Amino acid sequence: MINCLWCGKKETEKLRLGDLILFKKIESTVCCQECRQKLVKLAGRSVCPGCCREWLEAGLCSDCLRWQADYPDYVFKQIALYQYNAFLKEWIEAFKYKGDHRLAQLFKQEVREYFNQPVHKNKICIPIPISQTSLELRGFNQVEAILQAAEIAYLPVLHHIGTGKKQSSKDRKGRMLSPQPFQLDERYREQLKDRDVILVDDVYTTGRTLFHAAELLRTTELKTIETFTIAR
Ligand SMILES: [Zn+2]
Ligand SMILES: [Zn+2]
Repeated sequence: MINCLWCGKKETEKLRLGDLILFKKIESTVCCQECRQKLVKLAGRSVCPGCCREWLEAGLCSDCLRWQADYPDYVFKQIALYQYNAFLKEWIEAFKYKGDHRLAQLFKQEVREYFNQPVHKNKICIPIPISQTSLELRGFNQVEAILQAAEIAYLPVLHHIGTGKKQSSKDRKGRMLSPQPFQLDERYREQLKDRDVILVDDVYTTGRTLFHAAELLRTTELKTIETFTIAR
């Protein structure tokens, strides 16, 4: 029996035959079927290959084309699990701003499956840090909480040194003037040499945060950077 963390409904857990056949680890869920159905997976939908935003045309979306003009030699590779719809927005807000740590559990199975794919085996997972103010307010970094819930190891290579104030300017000048909020922890520089890394954030909004982080990581001798977010 589960108690849905979101709506409070009690529900009997059903074992899925597919999981039994594949000997998959049976996860206890934290969300009832009705709430879970409101999560819309992006896999299989038509998305931009650069940022995973729903996009019906071929090639990069208009946002990615702008980023490409700013970072001409950046290789775009971004995966998001779910559509950032009203339900997920509310869930993430409750998780982050009301500080309900338990809500990290919602994504644990999908996050674990994603990072445990053989293709990601030797990659280094790096969470986007949050500002000191947010950390004090919330008590935890939501990205680390999501990774911890999924039992995925990560390296805290980046530190947040900014004010935490977001600038969401769409024009090039505004984007490029927004100050770098992160700092690379020099102790990890050597460890990143020749490695593939996955930068992890909760939501991909403008891309500014991930590009700031990637910009710093690219000062090291790492091999490739890709990014992963829960929502887009
Ligand atoms: Zn529910
Ligand atoms: Zn795009």
